[in-house]
Amino acid sequence: MELLKERIRKDGVMKPGNVLKVDSFLNHQMDIELFNEMGKEFKRRFEGVKIDKILTIEASGIGIAAIVAQYFKCPVVFAKKSQSINLDGTMLSAPVESFTHKRKYEVIVASKFLHPDENVLVIDDFMANGCAAAGLCQIIEAAHANVAGIGIVIEKGFQHGGAMLRGRGYRVESLAIVEEMDPETQTIRFRED
Ligand code: 5GP
Repeated sequence: MELLKERIRKDGVMKPGNVLKVDSFLNHQMDIELFNEMGKEFKRRFEGVKIDKILTIEASGIGIAAIVAQYFKCPVVFAKKSQSINLDGTMLSAPVESFTHKRKYEVIVASKFLHPDENVLVIDDFMANGCAAAGLCQIIEAAHANVAGIGIVIEKGFQHGGAMLRGRGYRVESLAIVEEMDPETQTIRFRED
């Protein structure tokens, strides 16, 4: 998606440790006009695919998932990262290793929000090693629902998540795939669409 790539070139900051900071429009401040364009693009890419629900992960997936859901006209469920007293009933969970915080945690979804045979689209802001998206797919399948696809705003193609999940047969659609980035020169190269 050219508009997104341009924005990453303009405002993205490359950090050591393979981290791309896009907090001026995606991860902290959110550019809703851009989010709407991304919503339309996900809808275009998944045209003809039946989507009953979107599943994302707190916190930074929620904003984009909520906007994307307006184009699919479906509810959004977000996986929680910690047990809370507000969670009751049967829970589905999967272990996830955080890329940005370098720690392991459980992601949790109340099973009442995922039903057998529902078609669920996973949406997240970034894909690095694919751990977050794989955890969400695991939860969907534990609910006997179907993974309709995985929609990612920025995939870092030089990390192995995208290849791993495509290798497992999931349809992964990323709006921008970073092929390489250099924090020293602040240069970035994207995979061609
Ligand atoms: P994965 O589970 O694929 O290794 O990492 C995905 C999660 O880590 C995303 O939900 C995102 O929040 C975070 N993440 C991974 N790489 C980056 C990055 O380069 N920049 C930012 N801002 N977040 C990232």
